[in-house]
Amino acid sequence: MTENKSNIVCHECNCVMRRGTKPVAFSYRGRSITVDQPGWYCDGCDEAIYSGKDMGATELAFAEIKAEVDNVLGPQEVRAIRKRLGLSQRRAGELLGGGQRAFQKYEAGAVEVSKPMSNLLRLLNKQPSLLEELTNPTDSSSDSEPEPEEQTFRKHNRKSKLQDQQGQR
Ligand SMILES: [Zn+2]
Repeated sequence: MTENKSNIVCHECNCVMRRGTKPVAFSYRGRSITVDQPGWYCDGCDEAIYSGKDMGATELAFAEIKAEVDNVLGPQEVRAIRKRLGLSQRRAGELLGGGQRAFQKYEAGAVEVSKPMSNLLRLLNKQPSLLEELTNPTDSSSDSEPEPEEQTFRKHNRKSKLQDQQGQR
């Protein structure tokens, strides 16, 4: 699996393959995007070999631009905000939604964040203290918090209005 070999020979033409990048063009929503694709390229023909890491790098670069077009946070921004909030990828997915692996995918550029998730992260980035509103102490509960007061307010509104009308009579 390790590709520490400094020389890879092209299986098509037996030329030496070199490490390098080549521009690859994509089209997304009418916008053409060019990404530098790292990989092993043959000197003699068009053969190229991409490792999983090479593909990941391109996917990430593409995701960044795609996010810009879609006006949502890109992988790097998602990562930066999550770290700023002091959350692990796993915890972020549990807390904010999407599941345990969601943030791993967002930050790798494998999945684009939804608009609501993007907006939520933007808001939390502005007001990190709001995160406390979302954290629910389930496992480490030494003292259980009292249940929030139920809605008992303004049930008398109607009655008092009737009384007012009667009073006017
Ligand atoms: Zn070749």
